[in-house]
Amino acid sequence: MSQVLFFDYLKGNDHIEGINRLLVQSGFIDAIPDEGSVAIKLHMGELGNIRYLRPFFVSSVVRLVKEKGGKPFLFDTVASYPGSRDTKRKYLSTAATNGFSKGSIGAPIVIADDSDKQVVVKIDDPVDGCQLDEVKIPAVLLDADCIIALSHVKGHELAGFGGAVKNLAMGCVSTETKRLQHDVARPQFNQEACDLCGQCVDECPTGAIAVFDGLSRDEVKCISCGTCLSCCSSQGWVWPAGSKELLQVYMAHATAAFLGAYKGNIGYMNFVQDIVPYCDCMEVSGQPIVPDIGVLFSDDAVSVDKASLDLIDLSPIIPHTVSFGPPDVLGQMHNTNSLVQLNTAEKLKVGGVHYKMDSI
Ligand code: SF4
Ligand code: SF4
Repeated sequence: MSQVLFFDYLKGNDHIEGINRLLVQSGFIDAIPDEGSVAIKLHMGELGNIRYLRPFFVSSVVRLVKEKGGKPFLFDTVASYPGSRDTKRKYLSTAATNGFSKGSIGAPIVIADDSDKQVVVKIDDPVDGCQLDEVKIPAVLLDADCIIALSHVKGHELAGFGGAVKNLAMGCVSTETKRLQHDVARPQFNQEACDLCGQCVDECPTGAIAVFDGLSRDEVKCISCGTCLSCCSSQGWVWPAGSKELLQVYMAHATAAFLGAYKGNIGYMNFVQDIVPYCDCMEVSGQPIVPDIGVLFSDDAVSVDKASLDLIDLSPIIPHTVSFGPPDVLGQMHNTNSLVQLNTAEKLKVGGVHYKMDSI
């Protein structure tokens, strides 16, 4: 059973001290080899989003890694859909706007895209209906001596919630692999609801939708970004039945493939705060549904995510946010079961849903 360390905001409000204690008491920081490279994997927020991970937390981690003789760098991959992070240049610009620059954080920022060297990892024994054959991973990340995955725990309209497993599944792979995961949840046209207003035709970033005997979509051009579904107020596009759960199954496989290929030391720090309905990829991610809880650390991605969900279940709902209670409030908000990603990940030996939590 894996250990999860918990810095509880109700018991301590010195955040730097809390982050330090998590990294020291877990033994993670002392395992960093002298001069060892340390990739700090995080999402630096879409432009306009105000709930992403605070730069202050990240610079605290960077400082401790440097004090212990490590060489940290921040790492993420470009988004697979149009926005403020879909190229390296745009991502670096957005990161700087959001408070992440070498000067402010104290470490270089590496953003990878498909032009970088990739390592192909085959998936041999998929479970739960996954048809992903392989996953492509930026070599620069696999080359790091250590990885600290910093994850903001929040809701996600497809996965129910996003934490450490999602951070690896979508954030540590090529754009092509991200798309293959999203393709299982490609919006489906709902003809009865469509009044042919043309909004989705105008907003589709790849021009895949056309008005032709109703609406038609060029499946080759479609990148499964979901913009059509989000922009339609008539439910003219819907998520295919079972696609949210299948996407989680794919995520678990991508995470397992990544961990199978990565030979260094990896730790997971989950920030269970700003628990909003939508993810950091959205310009607007909504209002928190429970109070800020704290920070968790573990060497087990499944345990740290399950502990995060359990703490959310135990927290009081902020009035006038959601009309239902636990379990899995974030999953309920998005009409899915968030535990699918964790249960499949456990089957793939990514980690375990049973854990031992110790407050620090
Ligand atoms: S059809 Fe929809 S999901 Fe496909 S690219 Fe266009 S907006 Fe995105
Ligand atoms: S936005 Fe909705 S209603 Fe308008 S054309 Fe697209 S699917 Fe139809």
